[in-house]
Amino acid sequence: MTKAIITKSAHDKLTQLAQKYAPKIICGFLVGSIEGETVCINEVREVLTRTSPSFHFKPNWYNYNAILSEIKEEGKKVVGEFHSHPYGGPELNLNDRKILGYVGSAYWIIATMSEVVLWHFKSGETSDCIEKISLEIK
Ligand SMILES: [Zn+2]
Repeated sequence: MTKAIITKSAHDKLTQLAQKYAPKIICGFLVGSIEGETVCINEVREVLTRTSPSFHFKPNWYNYNAILSEIKEEGKKVVGEFHSHPYGGPELNLNDRKILGYVGSAYWIIATMSEVVLWHFKSGETSDCIEKISLEIK
């Protein structure tokens, strides 16, 4: 059973980012560690994001790669990604499931203006496995 711990500062930054960029979506990286069955999220780094009703959201890939290099140069590790749902709930919508289908397996946080939810997605041969992981705030 996967367990997840998030720092209070990372948790609060996620809801603040959702508010700050609304009605647009903001996405980015979850930085931390994975030890055994425990995912630790210590900080979040936002990436320039495009929002559209047709594709939901897309990172600016140039900025995405630049931020990713920064994180690696600092000797830190990306454990997953996040994006905001400024309006609506923290559930994975059809576009999210489509994107995750290409990615294959991932930890994803969806942040609304008031809520932070972590999902683990694993695509399978017959069906996809989607698990909501409870977050412990520390
Ligand atoms: Zn989404």
